Amino acid sequence: MRYSIFSVLGQALRGQQGWTPAWRDAAPKPAYDVIIVGGGGHGLATAHYLAKEHGIANVAVLEKGWIGGGNVGRNTTIIRSNYLLPGNTPFYEWSMKLWEGLEQDLNYNAMVSQRGVLNLYHSDAQRDAYARRGNAMRLNGVDAELLDREQVRALAPLLAFDNARFPIQGGLLQRRGGTVRHDAVAWGYARAADSRGVDIIQNCEVTGIAIEDGAVVGVETSRGRIRASKVGLACAGNSSRVAALAGLKLPIESHVLQAFVSEGLKPLVDGVITFGAGHFYVSQSDKGGLVFGGDIDGYNSYAQRGNLPVVEDVVEGGLAILPALGRLRLLRQWGGLMDMSMDGSPIIDRTPVRNLYLNAGWCYGGFKATPASGWCFAHTIAHDAPHALNAAYRLDRFATGHLIDEKGVGAQPNLH
Ligand SMILES: Cc1cc2nc3c(=O)[nH]c(=O)nc-3n(C[C@H](O)[C@H](O)[C@H](O)COP(=O)(O)OP(=O)(O)OC[C@H]3O[C@@H](n4cnc5c(N)ncnc54)[C@H](O)[C@@H]3O)c2cc1C
Repeated sequence: MRYSIFSVLGQALRGQQGWTPAWRDAAPKPAYDVIIVGGGGHGLATAHYLAKEHGIANVAVLEKGWIGGGNVGRNTTIIRSNYLLPGNTPFYEWSMKLWEGLEQDLNYNAMVSQRGVLNLYHSDAQRDAYARRGNAMRLNGVDAELLDREQVRALAPLLAFDNARFPIQGGLLQRRGGTVRHDAVAWGYARAADSRGVDIIQNCEVTGIAIEDGAVVGVETSRGRIRASKVGLACAGNSSRVAALAGLKLPIESHVLQAFVSEGLKPLVDGVITFGAGHFYVSQSDKGGLVFGGDIDGYNSYAQRGNLPVVEDVVEGGLAILPALGRLRLLRQWGGLMDMSMDGSPIIDRTPVRNLYLNAGWCYGGFKATPASGWCFAHTIAHDAPHALNAAYRLDRFATGHLIDEKGVGAQPNLH
């Protein structure tokens, strides 16, 4: 069923009785060309692009829970492509371009909203670092504007410009950045992949990876063994656990990241604003709630729930730039599992096990990467070789030393 203004009007006249499920509730077949483990944004996007770009539709996405129950439905919805390093910039910009055409591609309203992402700076040194990043972006064809204090004030007058410790001097703005309705991304990709013949199989946990003569031949699941010529792992916070089923030890730690939503307000924050002297980012949802977050919890965990010290830390960061936050009631809070890599950058690559592919290490930033990640992972699986856009996201870079340390903090996952 194609969604359009006409289908909405037609359904209104028929009492909304004619809507069909957005995707089939598929049962596993005995064998597939490709199995994708993990029905998050990245797994579903991979399935969509495998079918659409490479004509490989005999694909199953196996999800242990339900579509959208992982990080794809738990993040703070921010998209941007404001990266500095050569390995990252073209990849994230390609993602931004895919976001810009996503709703037409999927025939699904994902509420892509390019309201701008503004990184505040609080010192001369930080301004220089932002100018450098902005210049690198522009050299790569990515939009960036360095704003002074008055230009920031015109965009966000409620900010605390004269905070005694962290006065706001200006900001780096990417106008094409913004937000996207996160769970609609999962549903949109699921529906589009299903319409091309992909089986989306929920409540199907992968419990083993079958390997013969050094090559993957299928997976063991809670619903039985399923054979496959190729298997792609896109398990985000569970990457290490699932890769261990194939005997792989990943350079990844799993940490909890929390998100917060306030009660609904009249418009207060236009785009996305980030604090430059600590970790805090905020935007306002279409329903009016302020959506914000900060640092990871700081201890390793596979549980999707956070703890109170980070709540205090995030609110402190928020109050430093937006004192009005102190008057609000918090409506909801939750946690998700971050696959923190040792250099803060992702892995989209083959693995030492033949026909087993890995998509992992997204840290905080995997939502914005969803379209490009799926697109590149599909290419890597289809061609058994990476695309130029993900050539730097190699698994062996941790052995060869070709790291992509965007923040320059070293092997400290808690700081990426
Ligand atoms: C609070 C929070 C805020 C964030 N904010 C942002 C943001 O603003 N911008 C941004 O770019 N990124 C953000 N992120 C990061 C982003 O959400 C993730 O990097 C990204 O969603 C990970 O990819 P995914 O969507 O495929 O993951 P997921 O949705 O987690 O998908 C992985 C799936 O694998 C499944 N799985 C695991 N093990 C198995 C198994 N054995 N068998 C079958 N299935 C399995 C899981 O159930 C899960 O559904 C945030 C994350 C969190 C938690």
